[in-house]
Amino acid sequence: QVRVRFAPSPTGNLHVGGARTALFNYLFARSNGGKFVLRIEDTDLERSTKESEEAVLNDLSWLGLDWDEGPGVDGDYGPYRQSERNSLYKQYAEKLLESGYVYRCFCSSEELEKMKEIAKLKQLPPVYTGKWANATDKEVQEELQRGTPYTYRFRVPKEGSLKINDLIRGEVSWNLDTLGDFVIMRSNGQPVYNFCVTVDDATMAISHVIRAEEHLPNTLRQALIYKALGFPMPHFAHVSLILAPDRSKLSKRHGATSVGQYREMGYLPQAMVNYLALLGWGDGTENEFFTLDHLVEKFSIGRVNKSGAIFDSTKLRWMNGQHLRALPSEELTKLIGERWKSTGILTESEGSFVEDAVQLLKDGIDLTPDSDKALSNLLSYPLHETLSR
Ligand code: GLU
Repeated sequence: QVRVRFAPSPTGNLHVGGARTALFNYLFARSNGGKFVLRIEDTDLERSTKESEEAVLNDLSWLGLDWDEGPGVDGDYGPYRQSERNSLYKQYAEKLLESGYVYRCFCSSEELEKMKEIAKLKQLPPVYTGKWANATDKEVQEELQRGTPYTYRFRVPKEGSLKINDLIRGEVSWNLDTLGDFVIMRSNGQPVYNFCVTVDDATMAISHVIRAEEHLPNTLRQALIYKALGFPMPHFAHVSLILAPDRSKLSKRHGATSVGQYREMGYLPQAMVNYLALLGWGDGTENEFFTLDHLVEKFSIGRVNKSGAIFDSTKLRWMNGQHLRALPSEELTKLIGERWKSTGILTESEGSFVEDAVQLLKDGIDLTPDSDKALSNLLSYPLHETLSR
């Protein structure tokens, strides 16, 4: 069965890039009769907040991306917040220790710093030297008795390579010789990010991991952990970055980047969803107008482009106009009438005047707030005419 997940870290607002990842996961699940799981990655306790989690859930609901399992929707694979899954991570870390895929490393942070400095001097990659990789039982017992703090380190094969067949990028391979043994559990018992994600994806029976391209380096570590745990590897699909018109990474300095900001500006969720889907995907025809149901029908991961997609806010605005005019006329009248009433331009939000005015003005409106100016122009028109006569 197809099971995909969207795994936001609740450390801020839902970014348009995150929303597109969520959308592609949703479309993949729905078009394959699978399940769309929502998992909250709140292991970074200092940066994660409840408010942010709520905001992200709200934005996803507003977009219409309902999840089958996750916060607020019970399922067989919960809990769905990483902060509630600690015992599971511990259990799997112990399993890896017993099977020898992981070992205890008693190096202090000063010692690790020194290793890095030496590596730098020798112009070698700054990786762990493997000091504790082959320690004897006796050496380990001595440190344990002394109460020396230790991390759990993953034993990476010293040669060879690892490859995956990415559903978007094709074959991706890595050499293992420069990776170095990495930590999966810190000395305070906190599991690290890559380990949590792997344990979660494996135990939640995730079949396809669809996420942003920037996670590719994590995929290497996660794939090694998958193998060590003996879980079947999921399929991976890494979606390209969303770029600003100048082809740099889209960021706040380019304007609004969060879903919430667009909602506040008056964008329709259906326009947002349609526009996000076109960032890297198309159905192969000239058609660009899609409803969510339509997208479910047409979506295929094989058609997702591997080059970066440019976020064009002018096009998003145009797209909003298309969806606004596609609304049933009562709905459009209600939406714009209520706006006029709330902004105080009109005292009534219903009636034949509102209906007529909306019909008359709608072609010039791409975003509901545009309707204020359009209406005031209309209302002042006879006055101008009288004055100029
Ligand atoms: N929590 C990660 C993020 O917000 C996503 C991790 C993943 O999809 O594997 O970027």
